[in-house]
Amino acid sequence: MDKCIKCGLPGHYQGITLNENHVCNYCEFYETHKETFSNFDALEKQFEEEVENAKKKAAERGAKYDCITGLSGGKDGAYITYQLQHKYGLRVLTYTLDNGFSTDFGRKNVEILLDKLDVEHIWVNVRDSTLRQFYSASLKLIKNFCSVCFHFCHYYSHLLASQYEIPLIVNGRTRSQILQSADQIRGIEPFHIARDLKSFEYQMFKRLVDKLEHNSCIDFMPDHEITSLSYFMYHDISDEEKIDFLEKNLGWIKPESKVPHADCWAHPVAEYYSIKKNGYPVRTGELAEMVREGKMELHQAKREYLEDWNTYQDLDPQLEQRFMNRICVKNRLAAANAVSG
Ligand SMILES: [Zn+2]
Repeated sequence: MDKCIKCGLPGHYQGITLNENHVCNYCEFYETHKETFSNFDALEKQFEEEVENAKKKAAERGAKYDCITGLSGGKDGAYITYQLQHKYGLRVLTYTLDNGFSTDFGRKNVEILLDKLDVEHIWVNVRDSTLRQFYSASLKLIKNFCSVCFHFCHYYSHLLASQYEIPLIVNGRTRSQILQSADQIRGIEPFHIARDLKSFEYQMFKRLVDKLEHNSCIDFMPDHEITSLSYFMYHDISDEEKIDFLEKNLGWIKPESKVPHADCWAHPVAEYYSIKKNGYPVRTGELAEMVREGKMELHQAKREYLEDWNTYQDLDPQLEQRFMNRICVKNRLAAANAVSG
């Protein structure tokens, strides 16, 4: 099978091109800009400047908060919130979006965190019919529904920011998530910082955003100028350091389960569709990016890739049924009943 000799990305990965030396376009792009991506002194300084600007703007507007950030119950949101409060002296508003797939684990963790962080917080519950409409349309069109959840997170963070006149949103996207499909500087931090919802969504969805611009369901709120920063693009910190820090400073208890995305019960469904549609699990691009940055050995990435394949290539029919009921797509069982009845 053809793949990149550096990062191990398979030859059928989305948007990949391999050069004559079997090195992919993502590795080439990373190598070209490696100095910028790894100069953390300069990156932290850039982040600090943005923070100072936000403080000034919030003061001018008489806003109650300087920035807003999401808490899903995981370690990233907790770590970021603490740092924004204590290292950067920001007045932080937090929010949690109930995407229709939240687990008891996630909800309980948010409550524990709120108690420890002593921060203001808003639960956002999206109208059920809107959720179903977006999830089923997205599944039908692109066999993917995680993008809907991302969109709601982006949309509500911008909506809350505009309502409270908050100038800055800080998000917990990892470097791997940001750089996994970066092959040009457009829409990539720290080269381009998003100042409104549309340019932020471009960072994740690329040209899909242009296509959706005139869709009546999507409101990009073009009149609201709000800066979005991905905390981990500007700070060099490993998961182990994060957990260690949280244990010491927040009395954080590490979740027992090592399952990724333990805050979403539909995650195995997303993985299954990714394997069926794309021919690789969800984390493939992120694992390759960690190899590219020297944070993971190629053989370890390969092992985790195979583990994901084995875990997710078959979908528990009961889980699929639960998922279909949740998003209200006409399901196989109903179709079968209709035929036999
Ligand atoms: Zn590569």
